Amino acid sequence: MELLIASGNPKKLAEIELYLSETEVSLLAPSDVGGLPEVEEDKLTFAENADKKAASGAMESGRWTLADDSGLEVDHLGGAPGVRSARFAGVHGDDEANNQRLLAELSEVEDAARGAQFICALSLARPDGSIAARFEGKARGRILRERRGDRDFGYDPYFLFTEEGYPQTGRGFAELNPEEKSGVSHRGRALELLREYLMTATLEA
Ligand code: IMP
Repeated sequence: MELLIASGNPKKLAEIELYLSETEVSLLAPSDVGGLPEVEEDKLTFAENADKKAASGAMESGRWTLADDSGLEVDHLGGAPGVRSARFAGVHGDDEANNQRLLAELSEVEDAARGAQFICALSLARPDGSIAARFEGKARGRILRERRGDRDFGYDPYFLFTEEGYPQTGRGFAELNPEEKSGVSHRGRALELLREYLMTATLEA
């Protein structure tokens, strides 16, 4: 079974590959199908954006396609940046500027009120662009005042994982190695649901 991952973000791709490496599915990147056109992420929910990216990739390539739309929801900001996470500071994908804006918006907010969650919506599209399944994962934490850890992916350097009862509790996402992060992250949790689905489903043309 082949599955196209409709994402041009190498860090997302790496996390998805790590998770699905032990399944029967062989993963294709956009470069394996001659590239995919940019899709405007203009919907109001992560799930709708993931649907749009998956359907577009599938119709473009004629293959089963998985898309990930994800981001950070900060309690004190009423759930922002949310679906605008990648362009919070204006320029799409400028992680440094996005983090600086986040810190500035929370500069007067005490630790106890800096709660936040990462959300990951995965959509799986059939080759005709119809959506076969959706999966969602969340991870709760708190926004740090200073960066922690040296793994640079989006908001990870400022996200402290706070859910009780895990070896990762109280550690920053950027301090975790890829396996540790996947074990509790929003993307790892959504991918676990996808993996269970793929154990019984067949991706027929
Ligand atoms: P999109 O899904 O392409 O709209 O972009 C998601 C944005 O959310 C990225 O630019 C990151 O800033 C952020 N994001 C999503 N997942 C993660 C993660 O696992 N760690 C850190 N930042 C993330």
